[in-house]
Amino acid sequence: MEVEIRSAADEGLASCHMCGKVSPVVEEHCPRCHSRLHLRKPHSLERTWCYLIAAIAFYFPANLLPIMNVVGLGTNSSDTILSGVINFWKKGDMLVAVIIFSASIMIPILKMIALVWLCLAAHGFTSAEPKHLARLYHITELVGRWSMVDVFVVAVLVCLVQLGVISTVTPGPAILSFAAVVVLTMFAAMSFDPRLLWDRHVKEATEAGVKP
Ligand SMILES: [Zn+2]
Repeated sequence: MEVEIRSAADEGLASCHMCGKVSPVVEEHCPRCHSRLHLRKPHSLERTWCYLIAAIAFYFPANLLPIMNVVGLGTNSSDTILSGVINFWKKGDMLVAVIIFSASIMIPILKMIALVWLCLAAHGFTSAEPKHLARLYHITELVGRWSMVDVFVVAVLVCLVQLGVISTVTPGPAILSFAAVVVLTMFAAMSFDPRLLWDRHVKEATEAGVKP
């Protein structure tokens, strides 16, 4: 006997975004916490794309403009994230260099690539397995919780300690773009509804005449 797999959405049931209670979507508001009920996050893909495109746009000034200015005795230098990483590496602080490089350059770019891929998959442009995509989304969300700003603040503190009192370190213009990238990618990940991946999978399977 074949059992048809039906989703809660097929039954008109929605899980509350705030408290998780499952209720019929026709009720419009959650009976427990009175939040609005939706079968899927409203305009999920459009919102994710907007945040993502903005994040990608801010990624360039975040990396190209100076992130900090160092004014000291006879020296006046400004560093971008990458030149900062190179300086730390040259001074022998390999660990700090690796941490800043991965947290400030590599992770944001991987996160943005992952989100672009997830959006394309939800649109039906890629044919990856939804369970792999769901795992990718889970990792993306997990990484997002480890805010990059914290790591950078630590790095700046390390730098301050090393420079001591003879120098003054001030944040450069890139810091605002950098914060914007952090916040926007976080919003992009939050706006994305991973259930769309399964919806797409079921729709494609149904169209092809196979059991999802
Ligand atoms: Zn609720």
